[in-house]
Order: sequence, then structure tokens, then C-alpha cells
Amino acid sequence: MNPLNRLVVRTLPLVPKAVVRRIASRYVAGETLEEALALVRSLNAEGCKATLDVLGEDVTRPDETEATVIEYERALADIAARGLDSNISVKLTALGLKLDPAHCRLQFARIVEAAKAHGIFVRIDMEDSPVTEETIRIFFEFLEVYDRVGIVLQAYLRRSAEDARRIAAVGGNVRVCKGIYVEPPAIAFQDREEIRKSYIELVDLLLSSGSHVGIATHDPLLVERALGVIGRLRLPREAYEFQMLLGVAGTLRRRLVADGRRLRVYVPYGDAWYAYSVRRLKENPAIAGHVVKGLFRPS
Ligand SMILES: Cc1cc2nc3c(=O)[nH]c(=O)nc-3n(C[C@H](O)[C@H](O)[C@H](O)COP(=O)(O)OP(=O)(O)OC[C@H]3O[C@@H](n4cnc5c(N)ncnc54)[C@H](O)[C@@H]3O)c2cc1C
Repeated sequence: MNPLNRLVVRTLPLVPKAVVRRIASRYVAGETLEEALALVRSLNAEGCKATLDVLGEDVTRPDETEATVIEYERALADIAARGLDSNISVKLTALGLKLDPAHCRLQFARIVEAAKAHGIFVRIDMEDSPVTEETIRIFFEFLEVYDRVGIVLQAYLRRSAEDARRIAAVGGNVRVCKGIYVEPPAIAFQDREEIRKSYIELVDLLLSSGSHVGIATHDPLLVERALGVIGRLRLPREAYEFQMLLGVAGTLRRRLVADGRRLRVYVPYGDAWYAYSVRRLKENPAIAGHVVKGLFRPS
């Protein structure tokens, strides 16, 4: 990261919220379900699928999870009623995983039940390493209840190859991503090339065993390598999909769609937009430019 961007990242908390909101509008669909569904409709019209994510950070009391469950139930009903091509992604910590795993299971069961009633796929997002094991356990438990529940594996975690083998054994649906949290070297690869190598090995292992894979990356090199694996295995287009975050790598996204590949865009929305946007901005190499533009562009 160049020195200017590093400085902007460090001073992001000082940037007025209104400016962050303006820049964030690229990464977040809005605060309401209505805004998110309108965006899903326009993505569908461009030939992209979507996954809706109700933004929520860690909860501090079990009763705070109620609003998230209700929002997912509403989202599922509206996706179905409007015939949109979208599934949902859920963070178990927003359902209380770190506070009370039993409560989290009860809340997740309500979301899964609603998804099942509408025939919609549910992806469990993967969070930081203290919850990896429990998240995978919950995935296996709910797969028994509904076969359209999927999981995420992070290529930076050293354990992921072993997890991929366990999940492939039951034909699980897996999103593979690099991983976004800061994890120590004892459990996670740190080197960019090592993470890429792990990423493509996971994609290869899962696709070779017949698992459906969500190839979630904006890294053009990984997209090329994944296409190489897909070509070698002669896979039909339904066997995998590419996945990207809203507002990132538009050119690569359009190229894949034009090439007839399935592509799903991750569409976050909700009133917890601020923390999410700051995270996205911190990973964006062109961050300083965006912040400066946001400061000077009239709202
Ligand atoms: C659909 C989807 C779901 C995800 N789910 C999870 C999850 O459940 N758990 C988890 O830990 N992580 C998740 N991630 C995040 C992921 O782990 C990575 O942190 C993130 O995708 C960046 O890695 P990359 O593969 O795109 O490669 P990078 O090398 O980080 O990025 C490749 C290129 O993409 C562009 N780029 C990347 N990020 C941005 C940005 N914010 N703004 C503008 N350009 C950017 C840059 O040009 C960069 O050079 C998800 C990512 C996607 C796409």
C-alpha cells in the first residue's frame, strides 16, 4: 500500500460518516430490504445471480439476534414472491454463536425453515478462527435438515484442506475464499503465493470430488487458474459459479458473464453498513482516491 493510502486507512475513523456513506454506496445496497431487492433485480437483468447478506456485527445479548432472524425471514419471502434469482448468506455470530451456541442454533433453524419453505439456498459465511470448528459443525448438523445449506472455506487457514475432504465426502456446497480476518502464522498462511496455492488446491479437490464450488475471488490470476481446473475436469457450467462482492472488479465480472459463466454477487444491506464499508475500504488498494473523491463530490 502506498504511503498516502496507508495514511488514509489510519485516519478513516476521522472521515465524516456522510462521506463514508457516499463511498460505501458502491459496496452496500442500502439500509432497507427494498433497496437490496431493487439492486438484486438489476443484477439479475445483467445476467448475475445474487446472495443477500443482512449486515450485522457481533451481538452482545441473545435478544439482539431477533431482528436479524426476522429480516432474513422477510428477505426470503420477498425473494420468492418477486421471483428473484438470489439466495442468502448468514453470519452465525449475528445469531449469537459467540454468546450462546444453543440459542444460535435455534435462531438459525428458523432461517433454514423459512428458506426450505421457499426452496432457497442458505450459505453460512465463515468468520474468524475461534468459531471455525463450531461453524463447520453447525453446517453438518443442518445439512441433515435441509440439503441446500452451504459453507465457506478460507484458503489462508492451514486446516482447510482437511475440512474440504470432510465436506467433499458428503458432497457439500462450498464457497472458497482467501479469508478476510487477521490470523496468526501458526494456523494461517501469510504469504500471498502460498494462499493462492492453497486456494486453487481447495478448488481442485472440491470440484474433483463433485462438490459445487463458489469461486469467490477478484484475483484475475485465481480466476484463470480456476478456469484451468474447470477445463481439465470438463465440468458443466452448473457445477460451479464465480462469486464477487458488490462494487468490486466490475470488468472481470462482466467478462465472466459475457463468457456465459454463472456469477453471483454478494449484496450486503442493512443499518450496520458502516463497519462493513470501513472493512471494504481498508482492503481497497485505491482507497485514498475513493475517499478524496467522496470528500469533494457533491452529495
Ligand atoms: C462473494 C464473496 C464472499 C466472501 N465471503 C467471505 C467469508 O465468508 N469469509 C471470509 O473470511 N472472507 C470472505 N470473503 C472475502 C475474501 O476472503 C477476501 O478477503 C476478498 O475477496 C479479497 O480477496 P481476493 O481473492 O479478491 O484477492 P485480493 O488479492 O485481495 O484482490 C484481488 C484484486 O481485487 C480487487 N479488490 C479486492 N478487494 C477490493 C475492494 N474492497 N475494493 C476494490 N477492489 C478490490 C483489487 O484490484 C485486487 O488487486 C468473500 C469474498 C467474496 C468475493
